[in-house]
Amino acid sequence: AKQKGGQAITVFNFNEHTNEVMNKPIIERELRRAVTKKELTLYFQPVIDVHTKGIHFEALLRWFSPKLGTIPPDVFILVAEDRDFIQTIDEWVIDKASEFIYTSKDPSAKVAVNLSTKTLASDTLESMLETVIEKYQISPSQLELEITEHSLLRNEQAIIDKLFRLKKLGFSVAIDDFGVSNASLNYLRVLPVNKIKIDKVFIHNIEKLAKEYHIVHSIISLARKLGLTVTAEGVETKEQVEMLLQSNCDELQGYYFSKPVDEQSLDRVVEQIHDKMDQLTSIHK
Ligand code: C2E
Ligand code: MG
Ligand code: MG
Ligand code: MG
Repeated sequence: AKQKGGQAITVFNFNEHTNEVMNKPIIERELRRAVTKKELTLYFQPVIDVHTKGIHFEALLRWFSPKLGTIPPDVFILVAEDRDFIQTIDEWVIDKASEFIYTSKDPSAKVAVNLSTKTLASDTLESMLETVIEKYQISPSQLELEITEHSLLRNEQAIIDKLFRLKKLGFSVAIDDFGVSNASLNYLRVLPVNKIKIDKVFIHNIEKLAKEYHIVHSIISLARKLGLTVTAEGVETKEQVEMLLQSNCDELQGYYFSKPVDEQSLDRVVEQIHDKMDQLTSIHK
């Protein structure tokens, strides 16, 4: 509760150039309205598989509120989590992401969605997921579920069991923001997942600080030895790309390749990424 209070201060006065007093109740009221009025939009950020050069996307929510301006997901997700309607939002995202996969008509299309702790803990998640893949006739392997490390703080065994079931159903499961919690190594030990996504704070300075590079290099080699796929988040420079390739990182995501964009921009962005990859010397196959 203490931590939540701290975050509330960040939310308060968030957008100083609107005349609104930004605080949680106002964000909550407007967000509930946004959900019903369909003001939320999904953006997509490409994730590049360096082995196959295949590209999939992470779905990231955007809220352009006519009244409050653009509110970053880090802010409104917290409010939704706090006020217990994050599950509605996450399920909307899962539905839209599945619709996107269906519309692409590409059997290899894959989209990653972020699941909040409460959504992951919900008893109805599995049936919701099964309903949605049935509705759009897609395969569970086309949906990747990103969970954050703190998902496990509560009810650990029940969550582990659920992750086993989801994996058995064919969903791919990734630990998001890997490395920033104080139990990362333990999660690697106990969590049945397919992938880790190394948090961007680790990537930020790898080309400048040897220490940072060694940490990332070791995380990658450890995770790969455990049979996990490794994604680096927050890749912003060509030097970072080259270093991550040298370390055998499997997947790259970040502004170097593309920011999250709307659905209409994806074809253009994918084309640009292919050009960028052709320029990379150390990408093989
Ligand atoms: P995340 O899942 O770790 O997503 C990655 C964040 O890093 C995104 O921020 C993305 O725009 C940003 N990013 C990507 N590449 C770079 C880069 O090269 N440099 C930098 N500095 N940043 C980069 P975004 O879109 O603001 O989302 C923030 C967080 O909000 C997400 O972190 C995720 O935890 C949460 N979120 C977003 N959409 C959803 C959703 O549908 N449901 C839930 N539960 N959470 C969501
Ligand atoms: Mg994510
Ligand atoms: Mg992340
Ligand atoms: Mg995050």
